[in-house]
Amino acid sequence: MFFNAHVYFAKRIDKNLNSLKVLGSMFPDFAKTGLITWDDLHKRQPILDFSAFVDQTAPEFKPFVQGIIYHNNLDYTSHFEYKNEKPGYAYTNITTELFELARQALKIEDQRVRVSCHNLIEASVDYHLLKKTLGTVELIKQSSKEVNREKLTELISTYFKKDKETMAKGIDEFFEFVIGYDLRSFEEWVRLFVDLNKSYLNIVVSEEDTRKLLELSFGLTKDTWEEYLLTSISSFNNDVKDND
Ligand SMILES: [Zn+2]
Repeated sequence: MFFNAHVYFAKRIDKNLNSLKVLGSMFPDFAKTGLITWDDLHKRQPILDFSAFVDQTAPEFKPFVQGIIYHNNLDYTSHFEYKNEKPGYAYTNITTELFELARQALKIEDQRVRVSCHNLIEASVDYHLLKKTLGTVELIKQSSKEVNREKLTELISTYFKKDKETMAKGIDEFFEFVIGYDLRSFEEWVRLFVDLNKSYLNIVVSEEDTRKLLELSFGLTKDTWEEYLLTSISSFNNDVKDND
């Protein structure tokens, strides 16, 4: 899912939410910077390893790990299995029309088109959610101010054995991504996806094509997004899930 859905999920599950949990619930997607891999904080065993490292070396970051577990649980229903059916919500909602439109606009191989379509479906859930409540926007902003970036940089660069300065830059870039768009506005979603395609897929997709893709995805999810979130919330059990 996208970051507002992740934070909403965490907020609904956890009565004692704090800024580290909020950040943790978004942080696995830090992988978009390329400084960690998608497996590093998305898969079960790597999460358990990271959790053990935090317990031993920086127990004050335990809430951050809890947030990562929230992320992992929501991604499970989005990617892997939803309502006893596979794959999850973001993949089962990709229609032939959406796939074809994306394929023409993105001009990349089919497997990557599919991943990109899943991003559009996930973004749609955020879009509908933000039409209903803006509670997560404030939480994300507040958390990005409160979290000690220096300590976070120290932890992440030590664990992933990366240069501190590079990691600090990546972390700033990630924060900029999660607070840098006013997602109440449709045009800001267009801007976000144009930027995302440039920075992540290294391709230029026109605003016009991006608008069409977003409109279609928002329509595909408008009647089911809320049930999806509520069902995912009620099936939460704090296990770290294996997503394949
Ligand atoms: Zn996803």
